[in-house]
Amino acid sequence: MLEKREFYINGQWVSPAAANDFDVINPSNEEPCAVISLGGEADTDAAVAAARSAFDAWSQTSKDERLALLEKLAEIYAARSDEMGETISLEMGAPIAMAKTAQAGSGIGHIKSFIRAFKAFELDRELGSHAPNDRILLEPVGVCGLITPWNWPMNQVTLKVIPALAAGCTMVLKPSEIAPLSSLLFAEFMDEAGFPAGVFNLVNGDGAGVGTQLSGHPDVDMISFTGSTRAGTAITKNAADTVKRVSLELGGKGANLVFADADDKAVTRGARHCFNNSGQSCNAPTRMLVERSIYDQAVESAAQAAEQTAVDIASRDGRHIGPVVSEVQFNKIQGLIEKGMSEGARLVAGGPGRPEGMNRGYFVRPTVFADVNNDMTIAQEEIFGPVLSIIPFDDEEDAIKIANDTPYGLTDYVQTQDGAKANRVARRLRAGMVEMNGQSRGAGAPFGGYKQSGNGREGGVWGLEDFLEVKSVSGWTAE
Ligand code: NAD
Repeated sequence: MLEKREFYINGQWVSPAAANDFDVINPSNEEPCAVISLGGEADTDAAVAAARSAFDAWSQTSKDERLALLEKLAEIYAARSDEMGETISLEMGAPIAMAKTAQAGSGIGHIKSFIRAFKAFELDRELGSHAPNDRILLEPVGVCGLITPWNWPMNQVTLKVIPALAAGCTMVLKPSEIAPLSSLLFAEFMDEAGFPAGVFNLVNGDGAGVGTQLSGHPDVDMISFTGSTRAGTAITKNAADTVKRVSLELGGKGANLVFADADDKAVTRGARHCFNNSGQSCNAPTRMLVERSIYDQAVESAAQAAEQTAVDIASRDGRHIGPVVSEVQFNKIQGLIEKGMSEGARLVAGGPGRPEGMNRGYFVRPTVFADVNNDMTIAQEEIFGPVLSIIPFDDEEDAIKIANDTPYGLTDYVQTQDGAKANRVARRLRAGMVEMNGQSRGAGAPFGGYKQSGNGREGGVWGLEDFLEVKSVSGWTAE
């Protein structure tokens, strides 16, 4: 079993102030695969103090100095990307092929994309020709607490750490205690790249401990958080007394609007997208809204897609889905599947319990419910498992109304071959992202939500801006 009890503070691997062992569970076999430490107040304070004392020098480094270190980090990450994929697969159960490509690949993708965005980014700007002696300076917000979840670990870590570094911030990362191993490996990359001591620090811990200590810490200027709406709300409240900036990426209940004139792969593509990563994506299209004239056919195709989705252990090569991350998540998903059945939705694929022949590991059957009403629990709550809800609609107006009838507003999807209709619908959806006809958004596109899906935007120029203060100076002498 791996022993990973140390934290990375002020450029050193250090033991926790007080021992507090916590097992990391391999979700494919329910066995511990590593032991980490959960930090306490003394560890949080030490990491924040290191970040605070490194801030002055780091915030004054030039853009070129920061870019050179980020380029070095990109090289190291690329060289050890397979190791990153193996680590993610072990800790959170993504199948090994997918962990090495989509999961580990998202990290290197974001590093490169931020380097590109930062190169073109103006930190000093003119206000306009009407005010030639005004200057707008974009400056780092300060010491950042970065709190990340387990579902796309490196995606979320790099979406925070890289723009924070580029902006000139220093930071304390607290990854999910459920999937901390990839972040510990990432800290090794940071160390090897040679970032100055204290710029990047990592303390493991849980939400009630290190997470809460960071969000309330008087020496932390900003919290960037990805995870549940529950935790996002708690963080916002706890950060209020010190008036921190709080950037939130929360849950979603994405609607996938399938019109009668959609391409013939739209339903299968949507169902597979929902099951990808075992349904553990905040932007998963979990509510499929289908125009009535193609409804029966769509239900059949979605059920077929579920039946064709293989479920297997994470370490086996191939195109299957793995287990969900933990016993807590497994039980929550089982409860919601039961709820769907008791509230009257029609189960057309999957259902409660593990897939046939599996009696160990947190494996969930790819599940499809038809005849779902948008008021049902399975249409309103984020399930975070491979569970699709299909809801019929009458016309465009009805589809938009159902899609927007949710407390969330992260990603919606539109399937129609009528371009004008697609564009019209995209404008009406109250969501931070709309993906149409299977086309994914480009590198550097902003990721974030409306309503209870959060308030920040990650990625590209928008991701950099999240970590910057705006200073307005008058009487500036042209240099
Ligand atoms: P969570 O929000 O509890 O945990 C995410 C991160 O926040 C972890 O690092 C955790 O330690 C930390 N955290 C938890 N409570 C905190 C607090 N009060 N203060 C500071 N930090 C805190 O998520 P979870 O329990 O792992 O998953 C529960 C549900 O959250 C899932 O079922 C899913 O619906 C949702 N979720 C969403 C995303 C997303 O990307 N939007 C990611 C993971 C989970």
